[in-house]
Amino acid sequence: MASNRFSEQDYDRIYRRDAFTCVYCGFDGHAFENWMQLELDHVIPISQEGKDTDDNLVTCCPHCNKVTNGMQDLKGLPIEKILSQKRDVVMKDRKALYSRWLESQLPSANVVAARLGADQA
Ligand SMILES: [Zn+2]
Repeated sequence: MASNRFSEQDYDRIYRRDAFTCVYCGFDGHAFENWMQLELDHVIPISQEGKDTDDNLVTCCPHCNKVTNGMQDLKGLPIEKILSQKRDVVMKDRKALYSRWLESQLPSANVVAARLGADQA
């Protein structure tokens, strides 16, 4: 809740409407530690004449907020279309991140060699 743009009531109302869940990735913000991470996203950004109205605000997680930040030419599109486009961007990003994460979990060649050596001893 870094911004003073909205009141606590605004946050609580939108979070509750969206079931404390990121509308883009499904991040579950029910538990306190996760709830603290929740943010509000302007579906149509302020920079593209989006308003501070409930129908232009959704609950999202910090990662999705960052990934969808800067998407252009959203003004004038139906809200559902924009949500769909943003979900596509989020899913592409998550797919790339997931591959990177998998790679990071693989043991390095040195670790493998050391383990093989240990097994033979
Ligand atoms: Zn998310």
